[in-house]
Amino acid sequence: MAAADLPPADTLARPLRDLRISVTDRCQFRCTYCMPREVFGRDFAFLPRKELLTFEELARLARIFASLGVRKLRLTGGEPLLRRDLDKLVAMLAVSDGITDIALTTNGALLARHAAKLAAAGLRRVTVSLDSLDDAVFMALNDAAFPVAPVLEAIDAAAAAGLAPVKVNMVVRRGMNEQSILPMAARFRHTGHVLRFIEYMDVGTTNGWRLDDVVPAAEIIALISEHWPVEPAVPNYPGEVANRYRYTDGGGEIGIIASVTQPFCRGCTRARLSADGQLFTCLFAAAGHDLRGPLRTGATDWELTELVTGIWTRRADRYSEQRTRRTKPRPKVEMSHIGG
Ligand code: SAM
Repeated sequence: MAAADLPPADTLARPLRDLRISVTDRCQFRCTYCMPREVFGRDFAFLPRKELLTFEELARLARIFASLGVRKLRLTGGEPLLRRDLDKLVAMLAVSDGITDIALTTNGALLARHAAKLAAAGLRRVTVSLDSLDDAVFMALNDAAFPVAPVLEAIDAAAAAGLAPVKVNMVVRRGMNEQSILPMAARFRHTGHVLRFIEYMDVGTTNGWRLDDVVPAAEIIALISEHWPVEPAVPNYPGEVANRYRYTDGGGEIGIIASVTQPFCRGCTRARLSADGQLFTCLFAAAGHDLRGPLRTGATDWELTELVTGIWTRRADRYSEQRTRRTKPRPKVEMSHIGG
């Protein structure tokens, strides 16, 4: 097919390399910065099952995206491990020609029991979200009375299953968990796991974001360096989301995702698929492009390939870089495709 012969680039010459697939919009946590209970409460209308893309539909789309240059898939949500038989999906994705890496971002609550199965199915890497080692702080953030210990056990289980090095994502929010930065750094030094600090992002109206709540990357690095000096490390690949740093004493590495203070739109090669089959070309895109409709009304692979190619080649998003010039608030972000 013509489109596959020449992988598409967008209007800023960015290729399509990564696809983040949200497999569910549901989560058992109610992290105050992500799915706050006031918004995602008892009455919130989550997607009915029939509206979720099936595993067969996801595997078909993965093959099509792979033909357009995607090499890496990341499964996310919501909480992806709430989707039953996720290992079966991983096995179906793992046989797509061209896909070299399948990763999972999870809150870790269900990971210990699934890690070995997922690894056997072809999962290569896992990122576990953990915002503090202090139960009171962690529970205040996850708003689900979920303690720290099972998440630490899940990290160990993932490493034992061969999903190492495990990445650990910590969102840092001023006044909530900045006191957890040093204990987290101390806990994960010399473990081989990679702790990544994420600047608290504006996700629209739902989390009441204020710039004052962001602890800038530079401040986090300065704080850590006072205790354990770090030096920048070269990116693993072009467009890597996290800036890498290495402890100079050999304690391993950390990452910083500075999406607020150092936006990385120029290197963004990611597309995001929501659980109901909307394709987003930017985390902050106001609207997605429906792929489920064409999938369910008989579109051929060629038609789907042309559709995605058209969407990607028209892509001009650089939302975070433009934020300083913006006067209107950010559109609401669909949390079910935030990824990590
Ligand atoms: N439930 C899974 C998890 O907890 O990892 C996957 C979905 S979650 C939305 C993906 C990642 O986005 C997590 O690491 C989470 O901490 C991060 N995240 C969510 N809201 C955020 C925000 N407002 N700012 C920065 N990171 C955020």
